[in-house]
Amino acid sequence: MEITDKKVSLAKMPDGHEGAGFFATKLDDAVGLARKNSIWPLPFATSCCGIEFMATMGAHYDLARYGSERLSFSPRQADLLMVMGTISKKMAPIVRQVYEQMAEPKWVLSMGACASSGGIFDTYSVLQGIDRIIPVDVYIPGCPPRPEQVIDGVLKIHELVQNESSRRRYSEDYKSLMESYGFESGK
Ligand code: SF4
Repeated sequence: MEITDKKVSLAKMPDGHEGAGFFATKLDDAVGLARKNSIWPLPFATSCCGIEFMATMGAHYDLARYGSERLSFSPRQADLLMVMGTISKKMAPIVRQVYEQMAEPKWVLSMGACASSGGIFDTYSVLQGIDRIIPVDVYIPGCPPRPEQVIDGVLKIHELVQNESSRRRYSEDYKSLMESYGFESGK
């Protein structure tokens, strides 16, 4: 996408039926469309990847264009946990606690090599990937990833959000996923 492009395009309408004065679609599609375009991220930044995220929020890359200008530093009002940077084993319980405090539905994005796999820090003190403690929806590779990659990761989250069934969080699969991480259940 051309960053300097000044054109504003409307969000794509979900499939549905249209007539004079009405448009009908599935509830899931309408909810998915609204959620996807108003994701509030919680940035959990511990090191250099966080700086790259700051650039992503700045005027040039401007994550606000995707409905995410409102960062949430409270887990209770966040939809997307973005973990960026090295997570030490001492820090791991805090990441879990923040995740647990977020209301459903919630998504997780792991940014950079450190958050995704421990990166170059294959040591006794560093967690070798946050998916050892919480479920992750999208991984962004790189050390550090460029802002374009962060935007790409957020757009991948958008795809998941748009296409998620409203029943997923009540499903047995989701319940087992949560239980496999030691959380009670989704909802
Ligand atoms: S992945 Fe690289 S840039 Fe990101 S926190 Fe680790 S060392 Fe820093």
